[in-house]
Amino acid sequence: AEESLVDHYATNVGTKEWAGTMCLTEPHAGTDLGIIRSKALPQDDGSYLVSGTKIFISFGDHDLTKNIVHMVLAKAPDSPEGTKGISLFLVPKYLPKEWQSGGVGGLSQELSSTRNGVTCSGVEEKMGIHASPTCVLNFDNSVGWLVGDLNNGMALMFEMMNGARLDSGIMGLSLGEVAYQNSLEWVRERRQGRDLRGVQDPQEVADNILVHPDVRRMLLISKVNNEGWNLGRNSS
Ligand SMILES: Cc1cc2nc3c(=O)[nH]c(=O)nc-3n(C[C@H](O)[C@H](O)[C@H](O)COP(=O)(O)OP(=O)(O)OC[C@H]3O[C@@H](n4cnc5c(N)ncnc54)[C@H](O)[C@@H]3O)c2cc1C
Repeated sequence: AEESLVDHYATNVGTKEWAGTMCLTEPHAGTDLGIIRSKALPQDDGSYLVSGTKIFISFGDHDLTKNIVHMVLAKAPDSPEGTKGISLFLVPKYLPKEWQSGGVGGLSQELSSTRNGVTCSGVEEKMGIHASPTCVLNFDNSVGWLVGDLNNGMALMFEMMNGARLDSGIMGLSLGEVAYQNSLEWVRERRQGRDLRGVQDPQEVADNILVHPDVRRMLLISKVNNEGWNLGRNSS
Protein backbone atom coordinates (compact mmCIF):
# COMPACT_ATOMS: atom_id res chain seq x y z
CA ALA A 1 0.00 0.00 0.00
CA GLU A 2 1.00 3.61 -0.39
CA GLU A 3 3.47 4.53 2.33
CA SER A 4 1.39 7.41 3.68
CA LEU A 5 -1.56 5.04 4.17
CA VAL A 6 0.65 2.63 6.08
CA ASP A 7 2.04 5.47 8.21
CA HIS A 8 -1.33 7.00 8.92
CA TYR A 9 -3.41 3.86 9.49
CA ALA A 10 -1.36 0.69 9.98
CA THR A 11 0.63 2.21 12.84
CA ASN A 12 -2.48 3.15 14.80
CA VAL A 13 -4.13 -0.19 14.13
CA GLY A 14 -0.92 -1.97 15.11
CA THR A 15 -0.83 -0.16 18.46
CA LYS A 16 -4.59 -0.88 18.89
CA GLU A 17 -5.35 2.85 19.12
CA TRP A 18 -7.74 2.28 16.25
CA ALA A 19 -9.62 -0.89 15.40
CA GLY A 20 -9.95 -2.60 12.05
CA THR A 21 -12.44 -4.74 10.18
CA MET A 22 -12.44 -6.95 7.13
CA CYS A 23 -15.45 -6.34 4.89
CA LEU A 24 -16.00 -9.16 2.42
CA THR A 25 -19.47 -10.64 2.92
CA GLU A 26 -22.58 -9.12 1.33
CA PRO A 27 -26.24 -10.10 1.75
CA HIS A 28 -26.17 -12.22 -1.41
CA ALA A 29 -22.47 -13.19 -1.40
CA GLY A 30 -20.66 -15.14 1.30
CA THR A 31 -18.61 -18.08 0.09
CA ASP A 32 -18.82 -16.85 -3.50
CA LEU A 33 -17.23 -13.41 -3.32
CA GLY A 34 -16.94 -13.25 -7.10
CA ILE A 35 -20.48 -11.86 -7.23
CA ILE A 36 -20.10 -8.95 -4.79
CA ARG A 37 -21.83 -5.70 -5.77
CA SER A 38 -19.95 -3.10 -3.73
CA LYS A 39 -18.53 -0.47 -6.04
CA ALA A 40 -15.56 1.86 -5.86
CA LEU A 41 -15.61 4.88 -8.15
CA PRO A 42 -12.22 6.48 -8.85
CA GLN A 43 -11.96 10.23 -8.20
CA ASP A 44 -9.66 12.74 -9.86
CA ASP A 45 -7.72 13.18 -6.61
CA GLY A 46 -6.72 9.49 -6.54
CA SER A 47 -9.23 8.50 -3.87
CA TYR A 48 -12.32 6.32 -4.45
CA LEU A 49 -15.94 6.60 -3.40
CA VAL A 50 -17.03 3.24 -2.03
CA SER A 51 -20.70 2.21 -1.86
CA GLY A 52 -22.38 -1.04 -0.92
CA THR A 53 -23.72 -3.18 1.90
CA LYS A 54 -21.59 -5.59 3.90
CA ILE A 55 -23.01 -8.03 6.44
CA PHE A 56 -21.67 -10.13 9.32
CA ILE A 57 -18.80 -7.71 9.89
CA SER A 58 -17.00 -8.56 13.13
CA PHE A 59 -16.53 -5.48 15.31
CA GLY A 60 -18.10 -3.51 12.44
CA ASP A 61 -19.05 -0.61 14.70
CA HIS A 62 -18.42 0.31 18.33
CA ASP A 63 -17.02 3.13 20.41
CA LEU A 64 -14.14 1.22 21.98
CA THR A 65 -11.70 3.06 19.72
CA LYS A 66 -11.79 6.55 18.23
CA ASN A 67 -11.60 5.27 14.69
CA ILE A 68 -12.25 2.04 12.80
CA VAL A 69 -10.28 1.21 9.67
CA HIS A 70 -12.40 -0.86 7.31
CA MET A 71 -10.63 -3.01 4.72
CA VAL A 72 -13.29 -3.35 2.05
CA LEU A 73 -13.53 -5.59 -1.01
CA ALA A 74 -15.24 -3.77 -3.88
CA LYS A 75 -15.23 -3.59 -7.65
CA ALA A 76 -13.88 -0.67 -9.66
CA PRO A 77 -15.63 0.19 -12.94
CA ASP A 78 -14.87 -2.07 -15.92
CA SER A 79 -13.05 -4.61 -13.78
CA PRO A 80 -13.03 -8.28 -14.87
CA GLU A 81 -15.87 -10.59 -13.85
CA GLY A 82 -15.65 -12.69 -10.70
CA THR A 83 -12.89 -12.72 -8.11
CA LYS A 84 -10.31 -11.47 -10.63
CA GLY A 85 -12.05 -8.07 -10.64
CA ILE A 86 -12.09 -7.38 -6.91
CA SER A 87 -9.92 -4.70 -5.32
CA LEU A 88 -9.11 -3.86 -1.71
CA PHE A 89 -9.90 -0.42 -0.30
CA LEU A 90 -9.11 1.22 3.00
CA VAL A 91 -12.18 3.12 4.22
CA PRO A 92 -11.96 4.80 7.65
CA LYS A 93 -15.01 5.39 9.82
CA TYR A 94 -13.77 8.94 10.35
CA LEU A 95 -11.56 10.81 7.87
CA PRO A 96 -8.69 12.99 9.07
CA LYS A 97 -10.06 16.38 10.15
CA GLU A 98 -7.76 18.21 7.73
CA TRP A 99 -8.56 15.99 4.76
CA GLN A 100 -10.06 17.74 1.76
CA SER A 101 -8.90 15.67 -1.17
CA GLY A 102 -6.17 13.27 -2.26
CA GLY A 103 -4.28 11.07 0.15
CA VAL A 104 -3.43 11.33 3.82
CA GLY A 105 0.31 12.07 3.59
CA GLY A 106 1.35 14.74 6.10
CA LEU A 107 -2.09 15.04 7.71
CA SER A 108 -2.48 15.02 11.48
CA GLN A 109 -4.24 12.15 13.27
CA GLU A 110 -7.02 14.44 14.43
CA LEU A 111 -10.35 13.10 13.20
CA SER A 112 -13.35 14.69 11.56
CA SER A 113 -16.40 14.61 13.81
CA THR A 114 -18.72 13.44 11.02
CA ARG A 115 -18.79 9.90 9.73
CA ASN A 116 -17.27 9.03 6.38
CA GLY A 117 -20.58 7.69 5.04
CA VAL A 118 -20.16 4.39 6.92
CA THR A 119 -23.14 3.47 9.08
CA CYS A 120 -24.20 0.39 10.99
CA SER A 121 -27.81 -0.56 10.27
CA GLY A 122 -28.02 -3.66 12.43
CA VAL A 123 -26.24 -5.94 14.88
CA GLU A 124 -26.81 -9.71 14.58
CA GLU A 125 -28.43 -11.66 17.40
CA LYS A 126 -26.01 -14.58 17.77
CA MET A 127 -26.02 -17.73 19.90
CA GLY A 128 -22.56 -16.90 21.20
CA ILE A 129 -19.49 -14.66 20.66
CA HIS A 130 -21.49 -11.85 22.25
CA ALA A 131 -18.41 -9.76 22.94
CA SER A 132 -18.11 -9.21 19.19
CA PRO A 133 -20.72 -6.97 17.53
CA THR A 134 -21.46 -8.61 14.17
CA CYS A 135 -22.72 -5.73 12.06
CA VAL A 136 -24.49 -4.80 8.87
CA LEU A 137 -22.42 -1.94 7.44
CA ASN A 138 -23.62 0.47 4.80
CA PHE A 139 -21.04 2.35 2.76
CA ASP A 140 -22.53 5.35 1.02
CA ASN A 141 -20.01 7.19 -1.16
CA SER A 142 -17.46 6.66 1.58
CA VAL A 143 -14.00 7.99 0.82
CA GLY A 144 -11.46 5.21 0.48
CA TRP A 145 -8.06 4.49 -0.96
CA LEU A 146 -6.90 1.56 -3.04
CA VAL A 147 -4.59 -0.85 -1.22
CA GLY A 148 -2.14 -2.66 -3.48
CA ASP A 149 -2.88 -3.11 -7.16
CA LEU A 150 -6.25 -2.78 -8.80
CA ASN A 151 -8.02 -6.17 -9.05
CA ASN A 152 -5.61 -7.80 -6.61
CA GLY A 153 -7.92 -7.50 -3.61
CA MET A 154 -8.67 -11.19 -3.14
CA ALA A 155 -4.99 -12.13 -2.99
CA LEU A 156 -4.30 -9.40 -0.42
CA MET A 157 -7.32 -10.23 1.72
CA PHE A 158 -6.48 -13.91 1.73
CA GLU A 159 -2.87 -13.26 2.63
CA MET A 160 -4.25 -11.72 5.81
CA MET A 161 -6.86 -14.45 6.20
CA ASN A 162 -4.27 -17.22 6.02
CA GLY A 163 -2.73 -15.73 9.15
CA ALA A 164 -6.17 -15.24 10.70
CA ARG A 165 -7.05 -18.88 10.05
CA LEU A 166 -3.98 -20.04 11.93
CA ASP A 167 -4.89 -17.65 14.77
CA SER A 168 -8.46 -19.00 14.88
CA GLY A 169 -7.18 -22.57 14.86
CA ILE A 170 -4.80 -21.85 17.72
CA MET A 171 -7.60 -20.08 19.61
CA GLY A 172 -9.88 -23.12 19.18
CA LEU A 173 -7.14 -25.50 20.26
CA SER A 174 -6.30 -23.34 23.28
CA LEU A 175 -9.94 -23.15 24.38
CA GLY A 176 -10.25 -26.92 23.95
CA GLU A 177 -7.15 -27.52 26.06
CA VAL A 178 -8.29 -25.10 28.79
CA ALA A 179 -11.72 -26.78 28.82
CA TYR A 180 -10.03 -30.18 29.19
CA GLN A 181 -7.77 -29.01 32.02
CA ASN A 182 -10.67 -27.38 33.88
CA SER A 183 -12.78 -30.52 33.46
CA LEU A 184 -9.98 -32.69 34.76
CA GLU A 185 -9.61 -30.51 37.83
CA TRP A 186 -13.36 -30.59 38.39
CA VAL A 187 -13.77 -34.38 38.13
CA ARG A 188 -11.02 -34.77 40.72
CA GLU A 189 -13.09 -32.68 43.16
CA ARG A 190 -16.66 -33.62 42.36
CA ARG A 191 -17.96 -36.75 44.07
CA GLN A 192 -20.83 -38.98 43.04
CA GLY A 193 -21.50 -42.71 43.42
CA ARG A 194 -18.86 -45.36 43.83
CA ASP A 195 -16.23 -46.86 41.57
CA LEU A 196 -17.57 -50.01 39.88
CA ARG A 197 -14.35 -51.77 40.84
CA GLY A 198 -14.95 -51.04 44.52
CA VAL A 199 -14.94 -48.07 46.89
CA GLN A 200 -11.90 -45.84 46.33
CA ASP A 201 -12.31 -43.27 49.11
CA PRO A 202 -14.00 -45.02 52.06
CA GLN A 203 -13.52 -41.96 54.27
CA GLU A 204 -15.71 -39.91 51.85
CA VAL A 205 -19.44 -40.31 51.13
CA ALA A 206 -18.71 -40.87 47.44
CA ASP A 207 -15.78 -41.34 45.04
CA ASN A 208 -14.53 -38.71 42.60
CA ILE A 209 -16.44 -38.83 39.33
CA LEU A 210 -13.11 -39.43 37.58
CA VAL A 211 -13.63 -43.12 38.40
CA HIS A 212 -16.77 -43.41 36.25
CA PRO A 213 -16.17 -44.94 32.79
CA ASP A 214 -18.37 -42.44 30.89
CA VAL A 215 -16.56 -39.49 32.47
CA ARG A 216 -13.18 -41.03 31.64
CA ARG A 217 -14.35 -41.66 28.07
CA MET A 218 -15.46 -38.03 27.59
CA LEU A 219 -12.20 -36.73 29.03
CA LEU A 220 -10.20 -39.04 26.80
CA ILE A 221 -12.08 -37.90 23.69
CA SER A 222 -11.45 -34.30 24.66
CA LYS A 223 -7.76 -35.04 25.24
CA VAL A 224 -7.22 -36.90 21.98
CA ASN A 225 -9.04 -34.18 20.03
CA ASN A 226 -6.80 -31.52 21.56
CA GLU A 227 -3.73 -33.56 20.79
CA GLY A 228 -4.71 -33.85 17.15
CA TRP A 229 -5.50 -37.54 17.12
CA ASN A 230 -8.04 -38.34 14.41
CA LEU A 231 -10.41 -40.70 16.20
CA GLY A 232 -12.36 -41.63 13.08
CA ARG A 233 -9.30 -42.59 11.05
CA ASN A 234 -7.46 -44.39 13.80
CA SER A 235 -10.40 -46.42 15.02
CA SER A 236 -11.17 -47.80 11.54
C1 LIG B 1 -19.68 -14.76 13.75
C2 LIG B 1 -19.37 -14.39 12.33
C3 LIG B 1 -18.46 -13.39 12.07
C4 LIG B 1 -18.18 -13.03 10.75
N1 LIG B 1 -17.30 -12.01 10.53
C5 LIG B 1 -17.10 -11.60 9.26
C6 LIG B 1 -16.27 -10.46 8.99
O1 LIG B 1 -15.68 -9.88 9.90
N2 LIG B 1 -16.16 -10.05 7.71
C7 LIG B 1 -16.79 -10.67 6.68
O2 LIG B 1 -16.64 -10.22 5.55
N3 LIG B 1 -17.58 -11.75 6.89
C8 LIG B 1 -17.75 -12.23 8.16
N4 LIG B 1 -18.55 -13.31 8.39
C9 LIG B 1 -19.21 -13.93 7.27
C10 LIG B 1 -18.56 -15.22 6.84
O3 LIG B 1 -17.35 -14.96 6.20
C11 LIG B 1 -19.58 -15.91 5.93
O4 LIG B 1 -20.63 -16.35 6.77
C12 LIG B 1 -18.96 -17.02 5.16
O5 LIG B 1 -18.14 -16.51 4.16
C13 LIG B 1 -20.02 -17.92 4.53
O6 LIG B 1 -20.92 -17.18 3.79
P1 LIG B 1 -22.49 -17.35 4.00
O7 LIG B 1 -22.80 -17.21 5.45
O8 LIG B 1 -23.17 -16.42 3.05
O9 LIG B 1 -22.80 -18.84 3.62
P2 LIG B 1 -23.08 -19.42 2.17
O10 LIG B 1 -22.05 -18.92 1.22
O11 LIG B 1 -24.50 -19.18 1.84
O12 LIG B 1 -22.83 -20.95 2.45
C14 LIG B 1 -23.80 -21.75 3.14
C15 LIG B 1 -23.28 -23.16 3.21
O13 LIG B 1 -23.10 -23.68 1.88
C16 LIG B 1 -21.77 -24.16 1.71
N5 LIG B 1 -21.32 -23.85 0.35
C17 LIG B 1 -21.34 -22.64 -0.25
N6 LIG B 1 -20.86 -22.73 -1.50
C18 LIG B 1 -20.52 -24.02 -1.70
C19 LIG B 1 -19.96 -24.74 -2.80
N7 LIG B 1 -19.65 -24.13 -3.93
N8 LIG B 1 -19.74 -26.05 -2.63
C20 LIG B 1 -20.05 -26.68 -1.47
N9 LIG B 1 -20.58 -26.05 -0.40
C21 LIG B 1 -20.82 -24.75 -0.51
C22 LIG B 1 -20.93 -23.42 2.74
O14 LIG B 1 -19.79 -24.17 3.13
C23 LIG B 1 -21.91 -23.28 3.90
O15 LIG B 1 -21.92 -24.42 4.70
C24 LIG B 1 -18.82 -13.71 9.68
C25 LIG B 1 -19.71 -14.73 9.95
C26 LIG B 1 -19.98 -15.08 11.25
C27 LIG B 1 -20.96 -16.20 11.50
